[in-house]
Amino acid sequence: MAEFDGRTVLITGGGSGIGLATARALLDAGAKVVIAGRDAARLRGAVETLDAAGRVVAVPTDVAKESDLDRLMTVVRDRVGRLHGVFANAGIARFNSCAEVTGVEYADLLDTNVRGVFQTIQKSLPLLADRAAIVVNGSWLVHRGIATTPLYAAGKAAVVNLARSLAADLGTRGTRVNAVSPGYIVTDMFLGIADTEQAREGARRQVPLGRLGRPAEVAEAVVFLLSDRSSYITGQELLVDGGLITSV
Ligand code: NDP
Repeated sequence: MAEFDGRTVLITGGGSGIGLATARALLDAGAKVVIAGRDAARLRGAVETLDAAGRVVAVPTDVAKESDLDRLMTVVRDRVGRLHGVFANAGIARFNSCAEVTGVEYADLLDTNVRGVFQTIQKSLPLLADRAAIVVNGSWLVHRGIATTPLYAAGKAAVVNLARSLAADLGTRGTRVNAVSPGYIVTDMFLGIADTEQAREGARRQVPLGRLGRPAEVAEAVVFLLSDRSSYITGQELLVDGGLITSV
């Protein structure tokens, strides 16, 4: 019997990058997955790529919109029932110094990366099975001060600490909550920021392991934290950064 047989995991931002790699790894382990994201075409492409007949449910959802999350939870309840895992992964990157941050950028970042994560989890609670596990997606930037990322990093620090508080809150019902914090991982988001060969080379040089990370390498950590193999781990942050924060 595969490790995730009979289990369902909700992944926000499951149509690309780290979320998609996590969906693939969970399907390989026998799970059913619900993937959510704003772009319906992207989700359809993900379902085709995953090619796991009947075990992928795609629900167009903007996590920054409460009504979308309500609809998502209704679909989850009606189509799959209980959730054994939640990966609150959806996020956006907007990198500007404090003086440059606009009101729109402030709202976009915090609505998606903080409130979106909080409400994804909050609205999942009634659907959680016994001994469910939740993982939020943080960032290596939680541990460093970088001049151009104050708001993004503050939001990521908020959700990593949210995982700690929720671990204390939900532990009594057997639910574990942890964070994964990636370093430089080659996804659309990373390539949108490091958009020249020079920028990518600069990033690569900062990493002790001497290379950028793959989405599947973060997915391994997420699957571990969602699985019974981590049954006594909660309130923790697992960095998957090739050693980046030891060197910058
Ligand atoms: P991607 O851009 O590939 O993935 C981000 C996903 O989030 C997309 O599928 C996007 O789908 C979804 N998303 C964005 N906004 C919303 C929203 N409002 N509602 C629902 N879905 C949304 O990049 P990554 O895989 O790299 O990013 C995944 C997470 O990893 C993010 O939280 C990011 O901050 C974090 N991270 C990434 C790092 C990296 O180097 N790649 C480093 C550290 C952290 P759609 O546009 O269709 O909505």
